[in-house]
Amino acid sequence: PDRAPAAPARRRPALSYELFPARSDVSFERLRTTIAALEQTAPDYVSVTSKTGQGNLDRVLEVTEHLLDATTLRPLVHLTSIGSTRAELAAIVGALLDRGVRGVLALRGDQPEGHRLDDDEVPFARPLVELIRAVERERTAALAGGRLSVGVAAYPHRHPESPTAQHDLEVLMAKERAGADFAITQVFFDPSAYETFVERARTAGIGLPIVPGFVPATNPRRLARLAELSGVQAPRELLHSLENARDDAERHRIGVAHTAGLAARVLDAGAPGLHLFTFNRHVEALDVLDALDLDRWSAPTAGDLR
Ligand code: FAD
Repeated sequence: PDRAPAAPARRRPALSYELFPARSDVSFERLRTTIAALEQTAPDYVSVTSKTGQGNLDRVLEVTEHLLDATTLRPLVHLTSIGSTRAELAAIVGALLDRGVRGVLALRGDQPEGHRLDDDEVPFARPLVELIRAVERERTAALAGGRLSVGVAAYPHRHPESPTAQHDLEVLMAKERAGADFAITQVFFDPSAYETFVERARTAGIGLPIVPGFVPATNPRRLARLAELSGVQAPRELLHSLENARDDAERHRIGVAHTAGLAARVLDAGAPGLHLFTFNRHVEALDVLDALDLDRWSAPTAGDLR
C-alpha cells in the first residue's frame, strides 16, 4: 500500500531557563510550581544561579536536588570563583559530580566593591574552567564514561570592566581553549549587537555555540536594575511604553511581544537556541515561547542528513 514517507524528526533550537535559588521555604514552594510549569516545555536544561563566596550554596543545592530527584530536568549549576578558595571550588565541583550534576556554568562573579583578591582565589572564569576540567579528570570513574558540560558567559555589549570589545573576544577564546563547551550571553536589546558579536567571534576563530540570553521585558523596574548590574540599557522607547502602559496586563503584552520579536530576529540570524532569564516567574517565559513558536526554527536532526 502507498504510504506517505514518515515526516523527518526535527530538532527545535535549544531551550533553557535560568532560575535563582529560593530565599525561604515559602519561596521554595513557589519555585517548585514555576519549575513544574517550565518542565511542560521540555527544556534542554535549567540553570541555577549562585552568589559569590558560596553565600547561598545550601539553597543552590536545594533546588538542584529538586531538579534531579523530582523532575525530568537537567540542572546547569552556576559556579562563581570570587570569594572561594581553589580547594573549596574543587570540593563543590566534586560534590556536584557525585550528586549527578553534569552541567556547570563557570563564572567569575561580580567583584564586591573594594574586593582584594586573595592568593588562593581563582581570579577569572578561564582558570575556573581549567579547575573544573581538572576535577572532572580526577573523577572519570564516578562519571562512568559521562562528561561534564561546561558553559561560560559572553557579552555582546562588552563586559563593563573590559577595556575593548577585542579584549572580550580574547577572554572568550581563552575560556573555550580552557575547555568551555558553550557560552550564554548577557542580556542585549539590539539584535545586531548579538549578530555582530557572533560574527566577530567566528572571525576570531571561536567555535563554541553562543546561546543568546533574554529577559522577558515586562517590568521597567527590573530593566533598570539590570542596567545597573550589567551596564546594558533597555531601549528608551520600550521603557517609555512600559512606563506609560495602563496596567500590568498591558505591560505584560508589550514586554512579551518585544522579547519574542528580539528572539525571533536572532533565531532568524542562526542563533542555536534561547536562554530565558525567568526571575523565577513562569508566566512571562511561557508566553514568550507561545508568541515565538520555536518549531518554526526546527532543523532536521543529524540522522536525517544521511
Ligand atoms: P571573566 O570571563 O573572568 O571576565 C571578567 C572580567 O575580567 C572581564 O572584564 C574580562 O574582560 C576580564 N578578564 C578576564 N580574563 C582576564 C585576564 N586574563 N586578564 C585581564 N582581564 C581579564 N554572577 C553571579 O554572581 N552569579 C551568577 O549566577 C551569575 N550568572 C550569570 C549568568 C550569565 C549568563 C551571565 C552572562 C552572567 C552571570 N553572572 C553571574 C554575572 C558575572 O558573574 C559577571 O558578569 C562577572 O562580572 C564576570 O563574570 P565572567 O565569568 O564573565 O568573568
